Amino acid sequence: MKAIRGAITVRENTEKEILGQTKRLLKEIIRRNRLTEDRILSVFFSATTDLTKAYPAKGARELGLTQTALACYTEMEVEGSLRQCIRVLMLAETEHSPRHVYLGKAKGLRPDWEEKIMKIAIDGPSGAGKSTIAKELAKKLEIVYVDTGAMYRAIGLLSLERGLVIEKDSDVEGCRQELIELAEKAEIEWKFESGEQRLYLEGKDVSQRLRTQEVGDRASRISTIKEVRQAMVRLQQEIAECQSVVMDGRDIGTVVLPDADYKIFLTASAQVRGQRRYQELKEKGVETELAEIVAEIIERDERDQSRKESPLKKAEGAIEVDTSAMSVEEVVAFLADRIKP
Ligand code: C5P
Repeated sequence: MKAIRGAITVRENTEKEILGQTKRLLKEIIRRNRLTEDRILSVFFSATTDLTKAYPAKGARELGLTQTALACYTEMEVEGSLRQCIRVLMLAETEHSPRHVYLGKAKGLRPDWEEKIMKIAIDGPSGAGKSTIAKELAKKLEIVYVDTGAMYRAIGLLSLERGLVIEKDSDVEGCRQELIELAEKAEIEWKFESGEQRLYLEGKDVSQRLRTQEVGDRASRISTIKEVRQAMVRLQQEIAECQSVVMDGRDIGTVVLPDADYKIFLTASAQVRGQRRYQELKEKGVETELAEIVAEIIERDERDQSRKESPLKKAEGAIEVDTSAMSVEEVVAFLADRIKP
């Protein structure tokens, strides 16, 4: 039997936040220690005295730990100690060395137990090759790839399913509040299946459905809303807090991971990006006009670069690569050369 420690802070004293953060911490302990429910014998929780709206044990039960012995206690009041903090001591059957997990503001509590995490931010306009290159780079470095565009697309898909009309930029204003609510409540989860990252929305694998032009256009329009971005950025930061990542998007180096170890900005001419997209669609048997695709790309660039909230721009100190005349292999080799794990 092993004893595993963990801690996490919550942002406010509400039931939703206490249970949500407790589940996040437990999920991460379970993932990193490769545990299953039946191997978790007991979990002791302690919470600082300023947390009064829920017992963390309820979060554990909601997560499915119904057979585990759970107990909650309050912390001692020590001057200057971290506030709004939940601590965990888990006893579990495992042959591996315990991996302790400290998240949120609790991160610095045990620097001696901290694992080195590497964060790589890749930004650039649509079609610059971000996702292909980010995926390859992540594979090479054996770390997780996070496609943030897919998360905005997920909100685009939800808006479509709810029947919200978003056909032009001005339509977004009319359903602004509904879109914010969708983004704040959306249950977005990444799962790693047979070497591939899949996006689950409300428990369903929607990875394939996110790739349509319509969903992409909706994502681009919806992503201009400040509160939608805040909800997505929070999720993205939570993912990168726990593990090494290659994350791609438009605002990763500037907003999501300003402390990234490496920042990369990929570009390519609109003509080349249009050509790539055209080829991709042709291979899928979709009939289109190249000129139309190039025009759409230019329109989306314009929107991404000129929006008020986190416009697409190169982060300070980012490595810029124009991929117009480079193959995927060349770009990956160029970047891998500069990244020291
Ligand atoms: O990259 P992808 O085309 O999947 O992204 C869809 C849309 O989501 C983009 O056009 C962009 O407007 C938006 N997006 C964003 N910030 C990100 C990722 C995507 O605004 N980090």
